[in-house]
Amino acid sequence: MRFICATCGAEHDLDEISFGTEAPLQWALLSEDERARSLLSGEQCEIESEEGHSFYIRACLDIPIRGTDRAFTWGVWCSLSEQSYHEIADHWEDSNRRNIGPHFGWLCTKVPGYPDTAFLKTMVHQREVGVRPLVNLEATDHPLAVDQREGIEEERLRTIVVGLLHEGGQEGAAPNDGPAKRSDNSGVSEGPPSVT
Ligand SMILES: [Zn+2]
Repeated sequence: MRFICATCGAEHDLDEISFGTEAPLQWALLSEDERARSLLSGEQCEIESEEGHSFYIRACLDIPIRGTDRAFTWGVWCSLSEQSYHEIADHWEDSNRRNIGPHFGWLCTKVPGYPDTAFLKTMVHQREVGVRPLVNLEATDHPLAVDQREGIEEERLRTIVVGLLHEGGQEGAAPNDGPAKRSDNSGVSEGPPSVT
């Protein structure tokens, strides 16, 4: 879905753009000590803080684009119960893993262009091995949940995307159905996958 950008004059393709964060929003709130005790990989996060132990998974939140068969993908994190987290980890390489869950999760990413999206209720649905799970928002009146149900107007999506592209976000292809990384996640270290 190509369009000419009103800001830079170049052509952008919505199909090749996606944004995601490299960590759940809680990560930024940790002290250095807490980060040292915690784990962050590309797909999973376990936080050990003064408030206890918490578990997160990276996932895709798709928003259908109205009048098309396309969707725009936000890369997000959801917090899971310890039990759900370990169930998913135990089935990480299981070719039948789509049969487990879905699992309840709290959205732990602020999706740009919307009122605060932190801690919206979701269900996390596993997909085939190598593909990040899909997030379904609880059917509320939150504008992001409405857009997930009813679709977003392409024009409005373009406005959000162009704003992000030109505020320092990074554009990129989305290999393996995952989102491109933003460049504004300083302080994030790549830990080993915490599949235990
Ligand atoms: Zn542009």
